[in-house]
Amino acid sequence: MTARRIIFMGPPGVGKGTQAQILQDKYSIPQLSTGDMLRAAVAAGSELGKKAKDIMDRGELMPDDLMVSMIEDRISQPDCVNGFILDGFPRTVPQAEALDSMLARKGMDLDRVIQLKVPDEILFDRIRTRAAQSETVRADDNEETLRKRLTVYHAQTVPILPYYEAKGLLHVVDGTMTIEQVTNALVQILETV
Ligand code: AMP
Repeated sequence: MTARRIIFMGPPGVGKGTQAQILQDKYSIPQLSTGDMLRAAVAAGSELGKKAKDIMDRGELMPDDLMVSMIEDRISQPDCVNGFILDGFPRTVPQAEALDSMLARKGMDLDRVIQLKVPDEILFDRIRTRAAQSETVRADDNEETLRKRLTVYHAQTVPILPYYEAKGLLHVVDGTMTIEQVTNALVQILETV
């Protein structure tokens, strides 16, 4: 069996997006980034985008019900029939529970949950580099917002991990390795039965 429905968990700047992009090409399954979807809504100036902008700039989380219906719509698209990589969802225990019942209704299971782990100090270094290197700096790529996003991650997202561990789905990968080493570790996990 090759894993197809995958969740990437980890703090901001850990490399979830980078790895999800590499693996979506390797396995021909889409990366579903709720952060990217929200940034698209902000750029489009939609009602959702207007609401999202302030919340994202403050480093807080969007309401669970909005995020759950956003991901449900996305998972129902034809390109998700062979699987998907969730990047940035679920971020709270209620989101994880809603995802479970949504997948159960569709007769689907999760295959792997992968936690990318990096100490907080290294994330500050990385976010400084990302802000310095990108052409369009994300409004939430600054130290103050990162501090807030990390607090939110530890308080709201980390409590999901025991939930998946109890289901035997959780795998932990050291995110301080090089991009290539992390990809290799992920491939090992995804291709091991
Ligand atoms: P990201 O690009 O995944 O770091 O997400 C950027 C921002 O979008 C987060 O700091 C939140 O404000 C919002 N966001 C993204 N995904 C979620 C989610 N699953 N639940 C709540 N808020 C989210």
